[in-house]
Amino acid sequence: RSQAAERVVPSVCPYCGVGCQVDFRVRDDAIVEVTGRDGPSNLGRLCVKGRFGFDYVRHPERLTVPLVRREGAAKEPGDCVDLGQARGKFREASWEEAMARAAEGLRRVRDTRGPDALAGFGSAKGSNEEAYLFQKLVRTGFGTNNVDHCTRLCHAASVAALLEGIGSGAVTAPFTAAMEAEVIVVIGARPTENHPVAATFLKEAAARGAKLVVMDPRGTGLDRHATEVVRFAPGRDVPLLNAMLHVIIMEGLHDRQYVAAHLEDFEQLRSHVAALTPEAMAPICDVPAEQIRRVARLFARADRAMILWGMGISQSTHGTDNTRCLIALALLCGHVGRPGTGLHPLRGQNNVQGASDAGLIPMAFPDYHPTGEDAARARLEALWGARLDPRPGLTVVEIMGAMERGEIAGMYVMGENPAMSDPDLVHARAALAKLDHLVVQDLFLTETAALADVVLPASAWPEKDGTATNTNRQVQMGRAALPLPGQARQDLDIIVDLARRLGLDWSYTHPREVFAEMALAMPSLDHITWDRLLREDSVTYPCLGPDQPGQAIVFGDAFPTVTGRARLVPANLLDPAEMPDADFPFVLTTGRELEHWHTGAMTRRAGVLDALQPGPTASLAPEVLRRLGVAPGGRLRLSTRRGAVELSARADPDLPEGLVFMPFAYREAAANLLTNPQLDPFGKIPEFKYCAVRVEAV
Ligand code: SF4
Repeated sequence: RSQAAERVVPSVCPYCGVGCQVDFRVRDDAIVEVTGRDGPSNLGRLCVKGRFGFDYVRHPERLTVPLVRREGAAKEPGDCVDLGQARGKFREASWEEAMARAAEGLRRVRDTRGPDALAGFGSAKGSNEEAYLFQKLVRTGFGTNNVDHCTRLCHAASVAALLEGIGSGAVTAPFTAAMEAEVIVVIGARPTENHPVAATFLKEAAARGAKLVVMDPRGTGLDRHATEVVRFAPGRDVPLLNAMLHVIIMEGLHDRQYVAAHLEDFEQLRSHVAALTPEAMAPICDVPAEQIRRVARLFARADRAMILWGMGISQSTHGTDNTRCLIALALLCGHVGRPGTGLHPLRGQNNVQGASDAGLIPMAFPDYHPTGEDAARARLEALWGARLDPRPGLTVVEIMGAMERGEIAGMYVMGENPAMSDPDLVHARAALAKLDHLVVQDLFLTETAALADVVLPASAWPEKDGTATNTNRQVQMGRAALPLPGQARQDLDIIVDLARRLGLDWSYTHPREVFAEMALAMPSLDHITWDRLLREDSVTYPCLGPDQPGQAIVFGDAFPTVTGRARLVPANLLDPAEMPDADFPFVLTTGRELEHWHTGAMTRRAGVLDALQPGPTASLAPEVLRRLGVAPGGRLRLSTRRGAVELSARADPDLPEGLVFMPFAYREAAANLLTNPQLDPFGKIPEFKYCAVRVEAV
């Protein structure tokens, strides 16, 4: 089929944070094939989503005309399930009418209820330039810092702990650094499903002799490549990791020179873990004490070791504590700042790193300057010519709570789908339905758009020019391969149009201009320019010069903290927020599958991917299914204190008895009807990985 292509357009895969470089092969304004390019994070490799995940772009349900809610058409949470019913409540409108209505509603809320009655959810699936402009619009046009995106549901806890411990929320080394590691620890992550091309590097490292340690409550696709597989009880990361810290410190395996030269609060950590022996922690985390000692010694005695983690660590009410333990493990042994070492939270969305860097978070401006930091705020006020609020805004889940209480009455949502992605959806959907004014900008009539007042048809990734920053801190150039369908517009143009209608004097006409302004606002982008990215496709930040490739490994000499030292922060042993009991005896954990992306808006409209995973399933250990009298494929009802769903059963020998897994991509059995909205107190991330559930045969 590649022979048939008329054009080949180099770009980046829009799915996971690996950021594989791709060639879109285009004929008759359609993508006929996608092949891998020799990018720094993929070396020509792609997974099934990167290869076959693009026909959603021309799906018949694609929005091509603006929609406005019909007069008197009620917003009902049930519209999130029956999108056909929801569609009937809208009528087509001109861009002029839709934009005027969008702006008028937001302006009315701002002017009558105050700026804090507004909020915006931007997107980690768009470009850096869109993320930057979106947060600038909310801060200067709405007048509030109530702006956030899916990072709050993803690595917020990791970032909170990393900022506190080492002064930077980004990775200290790319995942490809694992190729030089002696020991690689992968914990709370399933890279073969969620970061498949990164997984190929980890497998390759293991094949070359690196010792791979895989730690997870569930079996994973990496287990057969592992030297050690540590299956621990769900929600018991902190006891397990504290026991490892105990072994390292009490056996004197830590790097004393490194600790003395680079770390603070060692004695505090030592006394905290003194009583947390492997023998004391083993019954809690369900790992034999001898294995805890063995893994701790393996990690500490290695000359070069690396830790990679995912949502299993962060999506927890103790996600920040989990990450604090991982940071302490790496720092104690001096496993940061050298080849083959590092701390690497594997980023989920293709641009969650870049969107966070660009300031799409409520507590900090671009480059993570807290909103209360006077000097940084003054610099931005001068650059933007606007007054900025020093108070941090509300996070995603806090915004939903404020909507439910009626404190937030107007929302602008671009490329996010909180009616599927937020925890405790019964409440989240009711809160969205209660808004006075909701503007949604997206590709499809999503579950969130179903509750909107105005729906704006936007641009898909293969239709736009823009940069994105992957999990490795590589800023990469995406290029438009396809024209926009119908009347759909570039996301960037829609943001600018809305800003002007809200009174901002904006004149951006191309993402290049936005990137140039970002470079002024964000020293992290020093020496990275639009033209350079057009030439080189990928540059790592921080970058020390126009002819330098960027620093893949950081913090060899000092940390970007006030003292230049990193902090060791003890983590307390805490139960998950909702423990199983007689009524809800199982533990539910949620996540992604290889074939489907997040809330399914794109991949469930991609033919090959939908054929591979056509419907929702709940996975349980085969023995548990037998006891329930349900064969694989039979029907199950899952209930929690928040809701219930029915779906097919899947037998999965990788699951321990007592644990149930559900993907969250399926509208017809939305996993987040069940999940617990309880938040980690630091990262404000909900507990998607643990709640009590009842399982019954239907
Ligand atoms: Fe796309 Fe991630 Fe797959 Fe690479 S690994 S092709 S970035 S989904």
